[in-house]
Amino acid sequence: MIPWKCKQCGTPNDGGACLCVGCNHIRAQRLVLTSEVTDHTLVFQVGTPVGRGGLLKAVGDDSRYASEPQFIVSPRLELGGWMVEHAASAANPTFHNGTALEHGPQPLKQGDRLSIGPKRAVLKVTIENLDSLP
Ligand SMILES: [Zn+2]
Repeated sequence: MIPWKCKQCGTPNDGGACLCVGCNHIRAQRLVLTSEVTDHTLVFQVGTPVGRGGLLKAVGDDSRYASEPQFIVSPRLELGGWMVEHAASAANPTFHNGTALEHGPQPLKQGDRLSIGPKRAVLKVTIENLDSLP
């Protein structure tokens, strides 16, 4: 990952870190999920349950495989970034990079893929940094 310079104190930081080593400022990140089928995007800035209704516009027909909610995304920046968690009540498994999500939140990385089962409603993960200097 590309190193970043803290907006608050100017310290250069490691690309993977969210917490500035100079001043403990937490770099804000937003999560963008892009449908591989339609190219529609879903943008998240806060923790959000994602289900059939929210997925309908992004993935179209494949949203019928989703429960309400299907998975939860949350910005756990103190733990290093955005996380995804399968909703325990969902009928179909949520897949992360081709493997069913187990219990508990898992970290999301640039270029990861989320899907329902191995190949429905495939979403590509993009993480955008909002407040670091160029
Ligand atoms: Zn700083």
